[in-house]
Amino acid sequence: MSTVRDVLAAPGRCYSFEFFPPKTEAGERSLWRTIRRVEALAPAFVSVTYGAGGSSRSRTVSVLHRIIGETTLRTVGHLTAVGHSVAELRNIIGQFADAGIRDILALRGDPPGDPRATWAPHPRGFTHAHELVRLVRASGDFGVGVAAFPERHPRSPDWDSDIAHFVAKCRAGADFAVTQMFFHPEHYLRLRDRVAAAGCDTPIIPAIMPATHARQIRTFAELSNASFPAELARRLAEAGDDADAAHRIGVDHATELAQRLLDEGAPGLHYLTLNKSAATVEIHRNLLGAGTLAAPAG
Ligand code: FAD
Repeated sequence: MSTVRDVLAAPGRCYSFEFFPPKTEAGERSLWRTIRRVEALAPAFVSVTYGAGGSSRSRTVSVLHRIIGETTLRTVGHLTAVGHSVAELRNIIGQFADAGIRDILALRGDPPGDPRATWAPHPRGFTHAHELVRLVRASGDFGVGVAAFPERHPRSPDWDSDIAHFVAKCRAGADFAVTQMFFHPEHYLRLRDRVAAAGCDTPIIPAIMPATHARQIRTFAELSNASFPAELARRLAEAGDDADAAHRIGVDHATELAQRLLDEGAPGLHYLTLNKSAATVEIHRNLLGAGTLAAPAG
């Protein structure tokens, strides 16, 4: 199977959907209902996040196995350096390869338990993502993706160092980047322009997170340093307990954001599904209906 690099090199936009490994049987059923609806849209790829620690990590590998075994979807495995020695990371990369994974999203990760705590690398592990990018590259014929931060990584002291480290990560061998969630198109465009000004042309795929559950999304946004638009917050607050109204507001806002990003030349969209399909599939259908997106090649 081809890699995300091949899709990005072909004409058309690269759209994708992200899942996380579920903890319960009910969660597993919800994930699989979502996967089936997403599969019908023939996305360029789907990705599965890597757990912060413990059993969620083996669940990442088993979800990847099942998606590859039971669907036609190109599948990207996330991998972090948290709590792993280099030898362990080699072993997991081998498991990904055995499952049929061709692309890995190589991440540094955050301290387990409290993402804002002081980062401490494994004594025989890696300190930054570019080292994992190199390891994945050296481990086989993988495509490699990395993380990008439209509002700067929360630990970066300034923009110059943030962009310099991002570019170094791309030059270590990344084929593409996927962003953290964000809600203002200008934040993506500013990042893209800064990276381009630094001489780096790695495609940066913007993440789309529909704000359909105000409280939950605001918590995510705070954790990931994403500023939440006051107008969107006001409209969601007005919707109160009316879940249908909140859903419509979140889908409309995300559709407008996605449309603007595509109009500005974004290479695609990466939908954060939270393992539920309704909102992201609706946004995607809105864009298809508007003629903005064509099915990806390859
Ligand atoms: P890095 O690129 O290493 O950057 C971390 C910080 O270090 C930045 O401030 C950077 O500027 C700085 N830095 C980088 N290199 C150097 C250097 N050489 N010297 C000094 N400073 C440097 N987390 C999970 O646990 N599981 C997931 O599946 C997951 N998926 C994600 C998917 C996406 C698209 C994104 C955007 C994030 C994801 N995360 C995930 C969260 C991610 O692990 C955290 O945001 C983490 O804090 C940063 O990871 P990174 O790969 O960007 O690290």
